[in-house]
Amino acid sequence: MPKPLALVTRMDAATEAVWKDTLADALPEETILSFRDMSAEQRLQAELAIVANPDPAHVAELPNINWIHSLWAGVERLVAELGPDAAPIVRLVDPELARVMAEAVLAWTYYLHRDMPAYRLSQKKAEWAPRDYRHPRDVTVGLLGLGELGKAAADRLKGAGFNTIGWSRSPKVLGDIETVSGEGGFEHILGAADILVCLMPLTAETRGMLDARRLSQMKPGAAIINFARGPIIVDTDLIAALDAGRLSHAVLDVFAQEPLPATSPFWAHPSVTVLPHISGPTDRFTAAGIVAANIRQWRQTGKMPKTVDIKAGY
Ligand code: NAP
Repeated sequence: MPKPLALVTRMDAATEAVWKDTLADALPEETILSFRDMSAEQRLQAELAIVANPDPAHVAELPNINWIHSLWAGVERLVAELGPDAAPIVRLVDPELARVMAEAVLAWTYYLHRDMPAYRLSQKKAEWAPRDYRHPRDVTVGLLGLGELGKAAADRLKGAGFNTIGWSRSPKVLGDIETVSGEGGFEHILGAADILVCLMPLTAETRGMLDARRLSQMKPGAAIINFARGPIIVDTDLIAALDAGRLSHAVLDVFAQEPLPATSPFWAHPSVTVLPHISGPTDRFTAAGIVAANIRQWRQTGKMPKTVDIKAGY
């Protein structure tokens, strides 16, 4: 009988129980226990933790875990809270999540490309104001981040005919999609993109990366979509750029504080579309299947999936 796996989350008990049942269905050969139900002895025995933004004090009560599997793709909070001495962390890499995120990127790119924010304002004023049609090939979409989600989004945009450019930390080759990296690449993509989509992780390097200086390097009249993490953009600098008309619109799905407080100026801003962190929801069933396959592979071969680079923060 293998030793237990601990499920450690900050979910309410009912939500966690649903996740536990889904994981148990995907991994019937394992004993998965909720941390809150584990005895002191079971906590000592646990060989692995499956987590969703857990309380770090709870993870510290599992001294014999070999590694930690996150149920979420974004791990900045987990990495920060567990610190450098934690067991290796594996994050969720799910093609279904990438498909859903790419769909959202395409949907909100069309929203901007087909001028929906402008038509919404025209309607409010009962104004009949048609705008010129632009062919997608004449619209450049820049992707900041070419990871699991950024790559899928780039393919989807390219397939829809948009002129697509991607920027990543290390140089990449991505078929016929133009890719850039480094400072020169950053300036190029900022200056070229009509629509800039942020899909980078939140790290020490990316926090506050899109500040007044960078926003001023963007093409005049460009729009921005942030589907990654709120603190990558400096909110006050973004509002200043929108107020000045330098940028035309921002679609924001992620915020420094979530839920977005009622007092936030984003809610009522005419050039901002607020979304409640819905661009890339985790599918419980596909996620459980991936966690199960990773754990099964480790049991059978001792091979751990790719782990998070703690120094880089993603
Ligand atoms: P990933 O596979 O780790 O890819 C991250 C990409 O960002 C990589 O291409 C990486 O470059 C690039 N990058 C990292 N730091 C950079 C820097 N300083 N400068 C330039 N590029 C940098 O991550 P992912 O799975 O695609 O997910 C991206 C993020 O999306 C997650 O971290 C999470 O915060 C967010 N997310 C949001 C939602 C939502 O619902 N809104 C859902 C899921 C995830 P290299 O390729 O060179 O490493």
